[in-house]
Amino acid sequence: MECKKLENLTWCNCSFNACGKKGICCECVKYHRERNEIPACFFSEEMECGYDRSIENFIKDYRNRKTVA
Ligand code: SF4
Repeated sequence: MECKKLENLTWCNCSFNACGKKGICCECVKYHRERNEIPACFFSEEMECGYDRSIENFIKDYRNRKTVA
């Protein structure tokens, strides 16, 4: 299977552009999963740019979105 990095970069919301894993979702997920974290694309734009990829921060972000909707 061919890597879809270029296609993935069209929608990837991660603002940490220096990361070598950007657009390579399998590496991105593996990296964050090993740290008990969640990749940028699960976060809102507002929370993503804080670079706190912890599960706790994801839950906080998700709950805030649920109350706004
Ligand atoms: S979410 Fe993490 S691993 Fe994925 S591109 Fe952004 S900084 Fe890199």
